[in-house]
Amino acid sequence: MQLKVIKITQETSNIHSFRFERPAGFDFFPGQWVMIFENKDGEQIKRAYSISTSPTIKEYFEISVKLNLKGSMTPFLFDHVKEGDSIEVLGPFGLFKLVPEEQDMIFIGGGSGITPFRAMSRFAADTGMQNSIKLVYAARTPADLAFKPEFDELEKRNPNFHAFYTVDTPTPDWKGHQGLISADILKAHIQDLTKVYYYVVGPQPMITLITGILAKENVPADHIHLDNWG
Ligand SMILES: Cc1cc2nc3c(=O)[nH]c(=O)nc-3n(C[C@H](O)[C@H](O)[C@H](O)COP(=O)(O)OP(=O)(O)OC[C@H]3O[C@@H](n4cnc5c(N)ncnc54)[C@H](O)[C@@H]3O)c2cc1C
Repeated sequence: MQLKVIKITQETSNIHSFRFERPAGFDFFPGQWVMIFENKDGEQIKRAYSISTSPTIKEYFEISVKLNLKGSMTPFLFDHVKEGDSIEVLGPFGLFKLVPEEQDMIFIGGGSGITPFRAMSRFAADTGMQNSIKLVYAARTPADLAFKPEFDELEKRNPNFHAFYTVDTPTPDWKGHQGLISADILKAHIQDLTKVYYYVVGPQPMITLITGILAKENVPADHIHLDNWG
């Protein structure tokens, strides 16, 4: 379907959100993704993007894209797509979803891998989910943490939601963690790593890092949900 881009927002120096009008009957659950199609130099290219907004927002949905200067789709989206343009979008797809029976949920993402958690965290607050949710979000610098004001607001709105951050390069006033997500960072916020349920998103290096940590800590494999971007 051709959907109109109604707003483009710069979230960080290299992450932009593209807001689409949400057509009637376009239903999805938080964690699902859409396929975006573009014609570039006479060739059709397609890439998957998680929906970064909650389905409780009826008027629109967004994808949030990290620019990869050497890539095909993202330079095209950043340089050529303007508000008012229409884009070919297919979906929703995907089975990465919240399991409400899992009382204690840990969301783990880095960089653009935050996108489905923005949707899930907002959905949990909007629908009054009682599950405990802890978000562990890694980025290069504090300025690269997309949506932090939204997570701050959700923490105020939902007493069961807490966000924790780690950055490679902190600023002098930084109060969060430093470095890659590690067992120590998880243990700082989780009493028993084997008793909670993990939702992990990102490209293969992120998935490998986190599944390695969790395996070493004897977390049962059926406590781990992966959205592997390859
Ligand atoms: C289910 C799913 C959900 C996703 N959700 C999101 C999301 O919410 N946000 C998001 O930003 N991404 C998301 N992605 C990733 C997204 O689909 C794309 O892979 C990403 O945007 C890069 O696309 P691209 O066309 O710009 O890069 P590609 O052209 O696909 O390039 C891929 C890699 O190859 C390298 N490369 C390409 N050409 C060259 C070259 N000539 N020389 C050297 N290196 C090169 C690039 O640096 C890059 O690392 C998701 C992926 C999946 C599978």
